[in-house]
Amino acid sequence: MWYAKMYFSEGREIFQYDSLGMQGVPDVQKEFPFLESLLAFQELDCAEVTPILQSITDNWSRFIAEDDRDALENFKRKLGRLASIHIYFRLLYVHCRYRQSAMYIQNDRGSAEDAQILDELHQLPEQLPRYQQQIQRFFELVLNVDSAGREPQAQAAKNYTYDMPKDPGLFCFHPIPLSFEPVEPGRCSPVLYSSSIRDMIDYSLRSCVERNITVRRCKNCGRWFPQTGRVSAEYCERPVPKGQQRCRDIGALKQWTLRQANNDAFKAYRKEYKRRFAWIKAGRITDQQFYDWSERARAEKDKCEQGLISQKELEVWLKESK
Ligand SMILES: [Zn+2]
Repeated sequence: MWYAKMYFSEGREIFQYDSLGMQGVPDVQKEFPFLESLLAFQELDCAEVTPILQSITDNWSRFIAEDDRDALENFKRKLGRLASIHIYFRLLYVHCRYRQSAMYIQNDRGSAEDAQILDELHQLPEQLPRYQQQIQRFFELVLNVDSAGREPQAQAAKNYTYDMPKDPGLFCFHPIPLSFEPVEPGRCSPVLYSSSIRDMIDYSLRSCVERNITVRRCKNCGRWFPQTGRVSAEYCERPVPKGQQRCRDIGALKQWTLRQANNDAFKAYRKEYKRRFAWIKAGRITDQQFYDWSERARAEKDKCEQGLISQKELEVWLKESK
């Protein structure tokens, strides 16, 4: 049988898909930082995905009803494209690919399983935006540190009666197919054998609550990010296209620059530093003299920042020191 596994390990999430029914040898393995798949799902443009899904449904329907080979080719191509848009869609891809090969062996095109696949495909254009809204609501009421606070456990308990949400717009939890097995050398973990996109969303959300992980909108890019480290973090560490800087690094630099710009002691130090640096070129002092001075000057600046000497005293020192 084919399978689609998903599990968490430390700060990562791992997806394994076996479309060939190889049992234990997945043909796709992908790793992301924790919660990246769910957050990317939240940013999915349903207007882009819906026409692809409709065409896939159409083609599958034609293929199982009429054995239309062109429809099958179309179906495969579009499904491959969908799988490249988001990792969740690879589930459909893997299931359908397995079903196609099983169909030729069993000679049972149009079986109940084919009808079930068709039914699931039919429902997705409606379900996907609804899941996005329910996740959004779950963020607001349970996970968002700025609106719901730092205790997802307490917020989740408050918002559900058994597994039913009190707010009709909130995500509904269901039993999900979880197993438990070795996932890495020396380590066992719960593993989701997902049969639907819904299961993967469910598992991601409940894992945040269980692991006490809150989310926040990044101060730089405005996207959601999980607070897997410090709860005071304001900038995300989410993956960015190659060659771009991550928000956490941009944020650190911004804050440092801001702090320094507001810092009179630093300004005075920098002014004198620049002046004396020019002296090297003019031959008035040597490199070594300059570096010795700048080291002592930095120490004086630190003293000023800590309030041990006044701004005036620092400025006098900078001017008169040798
Ligand atoms: Zn960001």
